[in-house]
Amino acid sequence: MHKILVSGCLNGRPIRFNSTKVSVESDIWDRWESEGRLVAFCPELAAGFPVPRPPAEIVDSTASLVLGGRGRVEEDNGTDVTDLFVAGARLAADRAAAEGCVIAVLTDGSPSCGTTYTYDGTFSGGTVEGMGVTAQLLADQGLRVFPEDRLEEADRYLRSLGE
Ligand code: SF4
Repeated sequence: MHKILVSGCLNGRPIRFNSTKVSVESDIWDRWESEGRLVAFCPELAAGFPVPRPPAEIVDSTASLVLGGRGRVEEDNGTDVTDLFVAGARLAADRAAAEGCVIAVLTDGSPSCGTTYTYDGTFSGGTVEGMGVTAQLLADQGLRVFPEDRLEEADRYLRSLGE
């Protein structure tokens, strides 16, 4: 059975930087859960960040540049947390591989988990198209990544793969 790596904060745990979770109310999600497909994982907690933690953004770069050692992630106080974000991404990729995950459904906008957009590095609420560091690494390793508001699309793709 194909499994799905999902952001830990989508699965009921208030672990985002500001101690909140993201609610997903969907029959598709409930079915995936009853089928035992969901593998919940938070790359930032896995890397050692606490809850709560300062907001962080990809600054003057992209997730691909961060993964290639030529970009950075900073907290809003200027602390460089690039290495921890890359470490979290690698741990997520390891977990996805160990569990046999073929897709990931991740919280959009996060500097780790964003799949269609992230914040623009100015800490002013602006956004840019692109992925977070974990989402980018998962995509680079062949997983299809979806934001949490595209469950029907994710489910169609999963069904196209067969059981
Ligand atoms: Fe959720 Fe991902 Fe942020 Fe963890 S890193 S709190 S899983 S969005």
